Amino acid sequence: MKNKFGIYIHVPFCHSKCNYCNFYSLANTSLIEPYSEAIAKEIIDRKNTEKGEVASIYFGGGTPSMMSSDWFKKIFEVIYSNYSVVENAEITMEANPDNISPLFLHEIKSLINRLSIGTQSFNDGNLKYLSRKHTAQKGIDSIKMAQDAGYDNITADLIYGVPSSSPQVFQEDVHQFLELKIPHLSAYALTLEENTKLSLDILKGRLSKPLESEAEKNYLFLMKVLKEAGFHHYEISNFALPNYEAKHNSSYWSGQHYLGFGPSAHSYSGDERRWNLSSVAQYIEKMKSNEVYFEKEILSFENKLNEYIMTGLRTRAGISLKKIALDCKAELFILFQQNLSQINPAFYQLSNEIMILTDSGKLFADGIAASLFFED
Ligand code: SF4
Repeated sequence: MKNKFGIYIHVPFCHSKCNYCNFYSLANTSLIEPYSEAIAKEIIDRKNTEKGEVASIYFGGGTPSMMSSDWFKKIFEVIYSNYSVVENAEITMEANPDNISPLFLHEIKSLINRLSIGTQSFNDGNLKYLSRKHTAQKGIDSIKMAQDAGYDNITADLIYGVPSSSPQVFQEDVHQFLELKIPHLSAYALTLEENTKLSLDILKGRLSKPLESEAEKNYLFLMKVLKEAGFHHYEISNFALPNYEAKHNSSYWSGQHYLGFGPSAHSYSGDERRWNLSSVAQYIEKMKSNEVYFEKEILSFENKLNEYIMTGLRTRAGISLKKIALDCKAELFILFQQNLSQINPAFYQLSNEIMILTDSGKLFADGIAASLFFED
């Protein structure tokens, strides 16, 4: 069987900056042209980096739906003439509710087969708190528009723990999502990132702070209701109806290789991680002058095991204690078992030496993973 890998393309432009977001993005679109040339060059330059076939392509951002259908056609021409892409590859584009139209969706339908729509909430108060530009109705309409254009593989985002909200508002959000009859949901707790307008507004007392206890209640409600509706909770933030699990994102959690193109895009080759410069202007300059435009890290054996623990515990596949025992020295495995014995048994299940977090354990997934890490 041929090796499979994923391609990630970063589109670093947004019409405006959302207050909670710390991703690098530019509202200035004057760099779109040189950026497009640079990214096409990177795609071509790296065509022999990975052997095998491309199983998934993901356009993330930023706001990829800001780009024209002609832009997508050109990028696909470059990809398809330089890489072997499997016939039924999953091809996802992130889209903002306020910049898709029936015409645009029709034009990209033959290129993109999965849409990730950044709804965040179906409540106008929450959207205002998050400084999103679209309304709740626009979010609903954008999903219906995608369905009318023939898309069935659609995912939406919900953010929980918004302090302007009440438990009832979040419950309405979840019910609205279910009413739309789409097969996938990504749900994230609102977190305060450094150097964001939201953090500053909270610091200055202009907005109230997210409460962890509310976020926990929202998350428990979400898990219960989506399970009842037939969704698999296949990753800590992701829920899917059977056969609609995101293939591209799943490859990140299962250790599959991927190539990331564009400013701030990350790549993973099994032994090495590398990440491109975030600044669009610097990325363009370095690409033009054939200078190094990325940094990289060679992964130690401890790094690899820790990533396996971190990502595995986030998924329903869990982590295999047998694999860990085989991969590390006996004395390190004894230490791992000692650390495991300190974890509240209500937070995980152990069956056939596979450790999977319970719903209550999922609330503390990062802390549990960190307590099992091997020291580098
Ligand atoms: S649209 Fe997305 S990437 Fe752009 S600023 Fe808002 S949250 Fe960040």
